[in-house]
Amino acid sequence: MARVYNFNAGPAGLPLAALERMQRELIDFEGTGMSILEHSHRGKAYEAVHDEAISHLRTLLTIPDDYDVLFLQGGASQQFAVIPMNLLPPGKSADYVITGGWSEKAYEEACRIGKARVAATTVVDKQYRRIPKESELELDPDAAYVHVTSNNTLFGTQFKTFPKTKAPLVADMSSDILGRKIEVKDFALIYAGAQKNIGPSGVTVVIVKKELVAAGRKDIPVIFRYETHAKANSLYNTPPTIAIYLMRNVLATLAETGLAAIEAANEKKAALLYAALDEMADYYQAPVEKESRSTMNVVFRLPSEELEKKLVADAAKQKMVGLAGHRSTGGIRASLYNAVSLEAVEKLVELMRAFRKA
Ligand SMILES: *Cc1c(COP(=O)(O)O)cnc(C)c1O
Repeated sequence: MARVYNFNAGPAGLPLAALERMQRELIDFEGTGMSILEHSHRGKAYEAVHDEAISHLRTLLTIPDDYDVLFLQGGASQQFAVIPMNLLPPGKSADYVITGGWSEKAYEEACRIGKARVAATTVVDKQYRRIPKESELELDPDAAYVHVTSNNTLFGTQFKTFPKTKAPLVADMSSDILGRKIEVKDFALIYAGAQKNIGPSGVTVVIVKKELVAAGRKDIPVIFRYETHAKANSLYNTPPTIAIYLMRNVLATLAETGLAAIEAANEKKAALLYAALDEMADYYQAPVEKESRSTMNVVFRLPSEELEKKLVADAAKQKMVGLAGHRSTGGIRASLYNAVSLEAVEKLVELMRAFRKA
C-alpha cells in the first residue's frame, strides 16, 4: 500500500488506525450484520458511537459540565451565521478580531444578522502576517461576544494566548482544535469543522456554555437554535452518522496519545520546519512574524512562482502532496495537523535543502 505524505489543508490526512478500523467495521458493524451507515440514528449501536465521540472530546479537552457538546452540520461557515443568529440580539453589538480570510467571512456574516464591529485587524495590503497584541484590541465592554479565529489556516498565524475579555469569548478553532491544550472555561463558545484536525468533513463540533444556549434568541428557526440541538443531544434531526463515526475513531486514537503528547509532537514538527526556513532565509521566505507563527499551517515563498510550482511537483514525485498555498495567497503551505508524522516533515525539509542547493 502506498500512502502519501499528506500536507493537505482540509480535508486533511487522517490517522491510518482510524481508517483501518472503519474499513474493518464498514460492512458488519460489531456483529450487527449491517454497516454503521445503515443503522438508525435512534438505535443503540449508533447512539453508543455518538456518545463515545462526545465523551472523548470531554475527556481530551477537560470540558466542564456546564458546557454542551454539539455535533452540527453546515460546516464552520454555517456557524458564522448561526452564532450571531443565537447570540446577537437587536440593540447589541458583537466584536470581531480580524486575522484572516475566515474571520473576515465570520464578520461579514454577522453584519448580515445584526450589528458587528471590528475590534482589531492586522490586514496590510490584503495580507495577514501577525496576531494583534491584546493592547491593540479596541473592545466594547458591552459587546454580546468577542469573536476570534484561533488559527489562521490561510496565512499561517495562530493565537498563542487568548485575550481576556469582559464579553463572552467565541473562537473558531477549525484548524487547531485538539492540536494543543486550551482552557475551555476561558471561552463561551468554541466551534470547529472536523475536517482539519479531528475527522472528515460533514460534522462541526460546537462546545458552548449552557447559560448561553439557554439565553439564545427564540425568534429564529428551530433548526438553527443551539437549544434545539442541546436538548436533543444533537439528535433532533438525522446527524451525519458516518462523519461522527469516523470522528469517533480519530478521537479514540487521540485519546490513546493524550493531548500533552499531541501538543509536544506538533511543536516539534513545526519547530523543525521553521528552523529550516530560518536557516535558509536567503532562499525561502517565511512572511509570518515569529511570535505569531502557526504550528498547524506553515506558509512560505520561494524566489519565483515558477520555482514554487517546481517544488510542489518535485515533492509530489516523492509522495509529498498538498503543498500548494491557498488559491487566494499562492506560495507554499505545509499543513502539519495531528495526523502528519515527524517523518513527513523531515522528508520535506530534506527536499527543501536539496532543492535550494540545486
Ligand atoms: C476551513 C475553515 C473554515 C471553513 O470550514 P467549512 O467547514 O468548510 O465551512 C472556517 N474557519 C477556519 C479557521 C477554517 O480553517
